[in-house]
Amino acid sequence: ATFDESGLSATALAAVYDLGYEEPTPIQQQAIPVVLEGRDLIAAAKTGTGKTAAFALPTMDKLPYAGKGEGPVMVIVTPTRELAMQISEVCETIAKRTNHRVVTLLGGVSYTPQIKKLRSGCDIIIATPGRLLDLMRQHEADLDLVQVLVLDEADRMLDMGFWPQVSEIVDATPSERQTLLFSATIDRSQDKVMFSLLNHPEIIEI
Ligand code: AMP
Repeated sequence: ATFDESGLSATALAAVYDLGYEEPTPIQQQAIPVVLEGRDLIAAAKTGTGKTAAFALPTMDKLPYAGKGEGPVMVIVTPTRELAMQISEVCETIAKRTNHRVVTLLGGVSYTPQIKKLRSGCDIIIATPGRLLDLMRQHEADLDLVQVLVLDEADRMLDMGFWPQVSEIVDATPSERQTLLFSATIDRSQDKVMFSLLNHPEIIEI
């Protein structure tokens, strides 16, 4: 399989070129068409499999733009600063082609630049749960316009005790959103909480 056959637009394929990827990884081959269709997805894929581009390319390829002072229309929640920064790098590269405004919200750094960016308007937020929730409570981040929600390393967020915060974030987004959930492992009977956030998801295990 090739990226050319994946259904991505010429704009997204230009971003693939910028990322330096030649062939899609198995998770990218399987996830990209499903996400482009607008379906919910739950994928068992560890770090190192190419899962970041698997969700970032097809979502950003069809993501609308929020107005001035509005947004985000997509939120990506991930458990650690390191993961948030890695995801940001990929999204920023794609955004150079798609022209989306990307804001990264991490704990442990000053609020002021994050708030300034949010007030000017953004299309995509990449965040760790605590900082995003802080900014939501300060009415600086409003998830009313969210169309796509990505929960990255959901199993780790559960293990780290972030689930109450993640639930509050999920509850602040419209229920008719598209939801993509990534986890190292998935177990239908054990992960009832996770499955309850998704609407007839396609399940991919690699
Ligand atoms: P991830 O699982 O998203 O953290 O990606 C793991 C690593 O694989 C990152 O360093 C990516 O740059 C790289 N990568 C992702 N997709 C591809 C691809 N299709 N071809 C080559 N490298 C890739």
